[in-house]
Amino acid sequence: MSGLVVVGASLAGLRAVEGARKAGYRGSVTLVGAEEHLPYDRPPLSKAFLDGPAEAPVFRQESVLCDELGVELVLGTRAHALDPAQRSVHVGDREIPYEGLVIATGATARTFPGSAHLAGVHTLRTLEDARAVRAALDAGARTVVIGAGFIGSEVASAARKRGLPVTVVEAAPTPLMRAIGAMGEPCSALHRANGTDLRCGIAVTGVEGNGRVERVRLADDTVLDAGLVVVGAGAVPATEWLAGSGVTLEDGVVCDETLATGLPGVYAAGDVARWHNPVFGRGMRLEHWSSAAEQGAAAGAAAAVPGSAEPYETVPYFWSDWYDTRIQFAGVPGADEIRVAQGDPDEGRFVALYRSGARLTGVLAVNKPREIMKFRALIARRTGWSGALEFAARRRELVSEGAR
Ligand code: FAD
Repeated sequence: MSGLVVVGASLAGLRAVEGARKAGYRGSVTLVGAEEHLPYDRPPLSKAFLDGPAEAPVFRQESVLCDELGVELVLGTRAHALDPAQRSVHVGDREIPYEGLVIATGATARTFPGSAHLAGVHTLRTLEDARAVRAALDAGARTVVIGAGFIGSEVASAARKRGLPVTVVEAAPTPLMRAIGAMGEPCSALHRANGTDLRCGIAVTGVEGNGRVERVRLADDTVLDAGLVVVGAGAVPATEWLAGSGVTLEDGVVCDETLATGLPGVYAAGDVARWHNPVFGRGMRLEHWSSAAEQGAAAGAAAAVPGSAEPYETVPYFWSDWYDTRIQFAGVPGADEIRVAQGDPDEGRFVALYRSGARLTGVLAVNKPREIMKFRALIARRTGWSGALEFAARRRELVSEGAR
């Protein structure tokens, strides 16, 4: 019996299943996942999990998935091919037929070339990765983080919370360049204020050791001692199993604005999907929790109920927790102008607005958690720059009145 098949049992895949049921779909649902685990939440892995309770942050118990949502779970097995002519997915030695299919295979962490044989070198994408990093921190490892993106910086925060020495090496001039553009300096300041040795503008040329990592070598021949190396160098979409299937692959699975891939009944969602986002009028692939959840729900409903697909649009949003600071960004980071609209970067609490052309296209909030969604809504409404500045001025008055 063919029904809905979802490949990738994480956030987007789970939401696809839930989205299909919410849309009234009563047919069979099969959820295929390469990991052994029930779907679990990744953001805590680089935050609370590293120094708090060590339970796996699973979203739903097996009984809820199987009994309430009526899902057949096929876990611990990788899909290795998609056959659109037969409308089937090849998983191990099974061929699972589908009417509707959601591709939700996410992304895989980039590794550091030549380091795979060394114990103590980890990426941080899966529960196993997080357990290994946590164990090394428990053992008091001297830590070197490669890449000052959000995951690398969160690992540095966790190490410093335990009082461990940590060095972060970043090739770009400031942290989070890809995610927040030119506003990285306040993030550098955060690392420094918390005792992290941050080295920007320099590349790692080698990770060395005898069976176990001992050193990290930099382009200027500096050698850093290391008992734990965490590679936070981004992720690549997990599309290798789709080669030759007929879906268009270009840094992700290319979709239209309804998340449809072009193959009948086949949709994509989450970190693996590159879709046309109407808010910005262009294709984009996000690696953010909220868009993965929303796209999953939309793609699940569209794949299960033919004819129901609707355009999905969003203003990209992510958050990251460094030390005791919450960093939030909405929109896109490339900008013609960036203006601080509230607070002061030197004091570690501010809102900065990003302009592209005549529009507000991004907002960064550091320790201003109540502001971000208001500006995100302006971006969604395609608000012009002058309108955004007027709104920001009104918010400043309200915020300062509230403080009196
Ligand atoms: P994934 O979570 O990558 O899941 C894809 C699943 O598909 C995996 O389980 C994988 O094993 C499986 N799979 C892959 N190939 C196959 C195959 N061929 N067959 C079967 N299964 C397959 N976002 C934020 O906005 N804020 C944060 O603070 C934040 N923190 C994060 C911290 C960490 C440590 C990580 C790793 C991510 C973080 N994110 C954060 C990003 C967020 O977690 C992701 O955007 C989200 O997990 C994407 O969900 P997904 O389901 O699309 O993909």
